[in-house]
Amino acid sequence: MGPQNLPLRLAEVRARMAQAAAAAGRSAQSVTLLAVGKAQPLERLAAAAAAGVQDFGENYLEEARAKIAALQDRTLTWHFIGRLQSNKTRPIAEAFAWVHTLDRLKVAERLAAQRPFHAPPLNVCLQVNLAGEASKGGVAPQELPGLAAAVAALPRLRLRGLMCLPPPEQERARQRYWFAQLRMHLERLNGAGAALDTLSMGMSDDFEAAILEGATIVRLGTVLFGPRSVQ
Ligand SMILES: *Cc1c(COP(=O)(O)O)cnc(C)c1O
Repeated sequence: MGPQNLPLRLAEVRARMAQAAAAAGRSAQSVTLLAVGKAQPLERLAAAAAAGVQDFGENYLEEARAKIAALQDRTLTWHFIGRLQSNKTRPIAEAFAWVHTLDRLKVAERLAAQRPFHAPPLNVCLQVNLAGEASKGGVAPQELPGLAAAVAALPRLRLRGLMCLPPPEQERARQRYWFAQLRMHLERLNGAGAALDTLSMGMSDDFEAAILEGATIVRLGTVLFGPRSVQ
């Protein structure tokens, strides 16, 4: 797919998002489209930005830094959505507005210490490993309340909500099951006094199910940009 197709793809994706939001009795504005640029050429990201996409997600630090530098004339919002390594937190604390994949207090403490003082607080979501998958990051649900309380107490970070990468499911009902679990965890934390407003959930194959269950950020790569070129 060439960048010239981007405006049409984007319009289709936004229409599907709006339809799912309407089906859930929600406004289209209540869901943010996060364009996931990993292994996508820069010109596709530039085309998305030109078409009005504001939020961009990246998984790999080096790739992200090159893209952030190349697109710095636009005032885009960059989200880190990849695996966090505790020895590589400083550039993330410096270059991103959001981190979606926080799952350890040690990494949170480093991000808090390394967030530049002139920058606004770093928005963070805690990744929850809903299905106990060993191949994926994320805090175990039973450890979530403790981690959330500890992260919320750190300076320079603003705990915004929860993120998940559930097991791939074909059936809409199964997709919704996992997203409902994440929403339940968020509601429990808020019921215990937290003030979280973000559910980062849903990707190309399941974003409508996620919106039906309350997603406020959907992370979309291939449905928007086409197949990834490098992996
Ligand atoms: C790659 C990726 C996405 C986007 O996946 P698509 O299926 O291409 O939409 C979303 N979230 C995370 C964490 C990813 O790594």
